[in-house]
Amino acid sequence: MKRDYAKHQAELLEEMERIRAAAARAQERQGPRGAVVLRAGPTFTVVNSESGPSIKCHRCGLVSSNWNDIDKLYCGNCHRFHKEVS
Ligand SMILES: [Zn+2]
Repeated sequence: MKRDYAKHQAELLEEMERIRAAAARAQERQGPRGAVVLRAGPTFTVVNSESGPSIKCHRCGLVSSNWNDIDKLYCGNCHRFHKEVS
């Protein structure tokens, strides 16, 4: 039975490799760490990721996880509010 066990393990490893590859492909489509886009406009993106929601300013590149910035769509670096439509 030892050989069957080894074969079974090899099959499990193969299966794990397939799942990992599929997850990596899915992550590529979804963006970094499977982040979900909550709101977006021409100058900003609000995403929800493993580390919580954050807003990214496309003008200066600042990423803020400050809830006020996210709620008001504000960039503390540019000192400007974002608009959801241009
Ligand atoms: Zn900014």
